[in-house]
Amino acid sequence: MSVAPHLQGYIADAADRAGRARGRINVSFEFFPPKTEKLEEQLWEAIRKLEPLAPRFVSVTYGAGGTTRDRTHRTVARIVKETSLNAAAHLTCVSATRVEVDAVLRDYWSAGVRHIVALRGDPPGGAGGAYSPYPDGYAYAADLVSGARAVAPFEVSVAVYPDRHPDSADWDAEIDNFKRKLDAGATRGVSNFFVDSDSFLRLRDRVAAAGIAAPVVPGIMPVSNFNGFRKMADAGGVSVPAWFAGLFDGLDGDPDTRRLVAAAASAELCARLIAEGVEDFHFYTLNRADLTLAICRVLGVRAQETHAS
Ligand code: FAD
Repeated sequence: MSVAPHLQGYIADAADRAGRARGRINVSFEFFPPKTEKLEEQLWEAIRKLEPLAPRFVSVTYGAGGTTRDRTHRTVARIVKETSLNAAAHLTCVSATRVEVDAVLRDYWSAGVRHIVALRGDPPGGAGGAYSPYPDGYAYAADLVSGARAVAPFEVSVAVYPDRHPDSADWDAEIDNFKRKLDAGATRGVSNFFVDSDSFLRLRDRVAAAGIAAPVVPGIMPVSNFNGFRKMADAGGVSVPAWFAGLFDGLDGDPDTRRLVAAAASAELCARLIAEGVEDFHFYTLNRADLTLAICRVLGVRAQETHAS
């Protein structure tokens, strides 16, 4: 039987990888603000299970058009109050004036939040639509980074795109934009999800070639539902190779096998990146701990002693 294309040319000693990984890998986790009490319980179960892994930070997304403004705030404020985690709030430029966004930033600072993930946001119609800045609003993420830093000395993370943002004319525009965000006061890039390790590694090379020293952290999205994953990928210009789609082919009605495949595929992706010197990972958890926990375990990331029961 021939070797699956995604494994061709991949030579790594698993034990060595795990050994190199132990103690060196840093993780962060992303959640979204829950809509209902039941979903809130699910989120908190995930937070409690992932907290012992001592992530560098956890972040909470901001719904398109500011639709989750209060829920995001409540969730981040509760994480700050009730856990040992360093919580970051996502914030976008969409559908709000600078004055309104600055008020949200001040509220975060007063609630003890010290880290903002500053984003342009998708157009109110959803990802892939035409974007135009809101009147009197921050136009792009770089403007929001400056705004946040003017309100308070927040740590600021920004988005980067291994498959390039669909609105960037070319790679020079993409990298120039990342540089503008760093020059405005951001300290790291967190990447959109991607399937092919080479996409991320090429982005990292481009960033280095532009003389940028700030860290770029790969965003890892384990597949929980392939159709949903594909939709998000299409809207965001993320390339999904046929071999990857093939891994999930025929598994729509078999969630158990799908989850095992998803964990194996993401762990494999992370292992390839570790083999190339990557030591930080940001997981899109979708408010569930299981896949992220399993992948972290394979990477050698375990509960820290202070949290272990
Ligand atoms: P920007 O960095 O502003 O760039 C967007 C595009 O505009 C790029 O193509 C850039 O080249 C171009 N551009 C920048 N400046 C200019 C200019 N002056 N003139 C013309 N073009 C310009 N969305 C949400 O709604 N809520 C979230 O919580 C959220 N979290 C995210 C977390 C991560 C880690 C990532 C990767 C994405 C997230 N997104 C979120 C999605 C993000 O909002 C979209 O991808 C959005 O389309 C772009 O946001 P950005 O911050 O990258 O924009």
